[in-house]
Amino acid sequence: MKIYDRLFINGRWVEPSGSETIDVVDPYKEELCGRVPAGTSQDVETAVQAAQNAFRIWSVVSPRERAAALEGIAAGLAARGEQIAQTISMELGIPISLSKTIQAGLPTAVMASYARIAAEERLEEEIGHSRVLKEPVGVCGFITPWNFPLHQIVGKVAPALAAGCTMIVKPSSLTPLNAFILAEIIAEAKLPPGVFNLISGSGRVVGEALSRHPKVDLISFTGSTRAGRRIGELGAQSIKRVTLELGGKSANVILDDADLKRAVSHGVKDICLNSGQVCSALSRMLVPAGRQTEAVAIARQTAEKIAIGDPRDANNYMGPLVSEAQRRKVRGYINEGIQEGANLVYGGPEVPAGLQRGYFVAPTIFADVSNKMSIAQDEIFGPVLTIIPYKDDEEAVAIANDSIYGLSGAVWSRDEARARRIARLLRTGQVMINGGKFNPLAPFGGYKQSGHGRELGKYGLEEFLEIKSLQF
Ligand code: NAP
Repeated sequence: MKIYDRLFINGRWVEPSGSETIDVVDPYKEELCGRVPAGTSQDVETAVQAAQNAFRIWSVVSPRERAAALEGIAAGLAARGEQIAQTISMELGIPISLSKTIQAGLPTAVMASYARIAAEERLEEEIGHSRVLKEPVGVCGFITPWNFPLHQIVGKVAPALAAGCTMIVKPSSLTPLNAFILAEIIAEAKLPPGVFNLISGSGRVVGEALSRHPKVDLISFTGSTRAGRRIGELGAQSIKRVTLELGGKSANVILDDADLKRAVSHGVKDICLNSGQVCSALSRMLVPAGRQTEAVAIARQTAEKIAIGDPRDANNYMGPLVSEAQRRKVRGYINEGIQEGANLVYGGPEVPAGLQRGYFVAPTIFADVSNKMSIAQDEIFGPVLTIIPYKDDEEAVAIANDSIYGLSGAVWSRDEARARRIARLLRTGQVMINGGKFNPLAPFGGYKQSGHGRELGKYGLEEFLEIKSLQF
């Protein structure tokens, strides 16, 4: 049981202004595993003041010095990688082997990447008789979710530090423990007090106080479209910059000449990663109608082999969902899919055999899905795959784009040029071609209601820069 009873504000661990706390539950054991303070709007006020004061110092520190600080934090993350992996595995339920690479390794790599980007980015250029300067935006508020909790925090903190901004982080109430480890590492990095502040607390209290605060210049939010809409409304009152990384319902377009076995098995593993709690999950698999039977057989065989169980067992690929509420929501969608007339070919709403304890949902596959069904339109955020048959390429593209979301997608074809052609037609922020891997230096973000703004790499840094032109 990990208990944190202080917030990190102005370079110090301080008593929260209120007395309420937030319980953290281990979703495998269904037991309390941690407790953090529930911050208040008073704590936000103190932190914003500290961040404003620190901005005067940090914004004029040289990029090289900022790069050195980022390197130090990346080294701290690497040194505590095992602890981070164990902590996130416990609070989120992701199996330990995946936690080590994705939940601990990835944010460490992203932090290190911004040390390089901070040192290399050109912050000034000449345009005719003007000199154009890129300057840090100011005080930032970061509101983050639970599914890749540290990665999502670092995806904001690292570029903001590189740009010269100061910040207040509000982590998800379901998985806040890892954010405290990051704060401990940053405390050791000896940044000027107030550059980085951590306030755990509810979205309604701390998140909204940050979003409406007139002295917060930028809010970067990752989470649901519902909360993003609210944050956007609140931020608009003071015309602050708001970047939103929201949900998705990404299409995995398998063309008729694709290696079906590779494409389908990759798609099933993708929807089971982190128990399907991935915003860019390829949750809609589009297959040529004439090959649907074959695709279903491959999908079933792959799902049967997914090792599901105790997150502490390094051989498992899938653990429980993050919470009972999340499981209820996912089961609700599975029942809705059955009622809508989709063909349930694997899994279902029942507790998987032998897994009575823990918030488990089995890998679940529907075939003969129409894109009009709610299981094809709504983000389920669980291990539920919808297989949608199509008749030709044109219809495949139309179905892929028939979504309020536009975060990610994939195309499979033995003809690479054809796959690239189709990829260009998808209205999404990224497309994986023939199993192309996630690139932590490439821009990540959404079209349509998946949000706006980009994270990671040099495009992620741009979000934290204001542009000024001097005319001579
Ligand atoms: P969520 O309910 O939107 O919560 C995300 C964060 O926002 C949490 O820190 C939450 O605080 C806070 N929050 C909630 N309501 C708020 C409000 N009214 N004002 C300010 N802050 C508020 O989403 P979630 O359940 O944590 O995550 C699942 C969703 O996130 C999915 O829809 C998923 O697609 C999306 N997501 C998107 C991306 C992406 O990069 N595009 C990445 C991951 C997740 P509490 O924890 O205290 O409620």
